[in-house]
Amino acid sequence: MPVSIHTADWIIPITASPIKNGAVAINEGRILHVGTYKDVCERLTGMVFHHGKGAIMPALVNAHIHLELSSLKNYLDDSEGFIDWLRNLVERRSIPSPSEVKDAMILAIDRLKQTGTILIGDITNTGLSIPILTSKPIKAMVFLEVVGLKMEKAKVHWNQLLKLLTQWSKRINLPITLAAHSPYSVSKEILRQIRDWSESHDQIISIHLAESEEEVIFLMTGGGPLKDLLVDIEAFDPDFNPPGLSPVAYLAKLGFLGDKTLCVHLVHINHEDIYILKKKGVKVCICPLSNHRLKVGLPPVDKLLKADIPIALGTDSLASNEDINLFREMAYLKAEFSHIPGHEILKMGSLYGATALGMESTLGSIEPGKEAHLIFIPLEATFLSTIELEEAVIESGLKQKVKWIEK
Ligand SMILES: [Zn+2]
Repeated sequence: MPVSIHTADWIIPITASPIKNGAVAINEGRILHVGTYKDVCERLTGMVFHHGKGAIMPALVNAHIHLELSSLKNYLDDSEGFIDWLRNLVERRSIPSPSEVKDAMILAIDRLKQTGTILIGDITNTGLSIPILTSKPIKAMVFLEVVGLKMEKAKVHWNQLLKLLTQWSKRINLPITLAAHSPYSVSKEILRQIRDWSESHDQIISIHLAESEEEVIFLMTGGGPLKDLLVDIEAFDPDFNPPGLSPVAYLAKLGFLGDKTLCVHLVHINHEDIYILKKKGVKVCICPLSNHRLKVGLPPVDKLLKADIPIALGTDSLASNEDINLFREMAYLKAEFSHIPGHEILKMGSLYGATALGMESTLGSIEPGKEAHLIFIPLEATFLSTIELEEAVIESGLKQKVKWIEK
């Protein structure tokens, strides 16, 4: 296969400064070289594709989504905060028909591709997304998620998922691992078993953590609106002893946190929690627009960055987000935290997402040897500074059509 050389006004490698009048050389789906057009042409010959006014960057990584909840978009749009939303989710989850669920997942994957996403961390309770993912041009790490505070229920679900994991892992070439829903909905025995499984299989695991204030109250006191909800939906375990700790401190005590644990949300965390996350090398993913929709607040992005913790981005599902376009999450972060540089936000949407899913050696930046999944973002102006460029890329990615470059 001949070498392809793709040129544009700008190349944004993510791991290096943007390159003016840059080029990327690709061969057999791999990046061979990146540099100025002049530099690339001096080293290599090949078919040249001039993309013109705009920027080439790595395709995006959505580190947390639930494809199988996509069809609930039409059933949960009047949420009045986290607890109401969760109640609606439990009550209405089985309303969509299997074909509605499947069609919505296919549309969601198409939307992800249309908006420049190559890799997702997909949470599933049923495994329904797995056969669809294998037939679509998108990469995924699938997390089979365990739910159950009541030990008996949790055990049944745990065994079902382990069976599913074994079945699918033999049949397909898609990374599949485990997740716990949250510290308030999974018994501590099962949390420990998931941790042990992760250690013995050297696999990344995930959990929703510190998403709402109600979660903090429940773990600190054993009461509050979350307990009422768990009782109402018959998911509360009367033997549950509140640990009297923050969600992060509780999981640390159980030994659940480590460099293979991907914690999602982290809206309600304090200084000690951030210290624990950093010390344990925990992987972090935030879903700011889902948090906004469910009125739980904003994650402390500044404090996490100050602690030098890489932050990945996720959209969460269409049940709690209007769209699954990662450029929207980046634009929202830029609007809420205007002092955070654009390059840091672009990194959250690409390299840090790949890192969160353990795929940073092949995806997330434009570097020789990595897989060539690149996107071209058209830009209207020729920019003077890289700061203006990175902000314009986020804005344009939100509004304009993304063009794929993969060969
Ligand atoms: Zn989620």
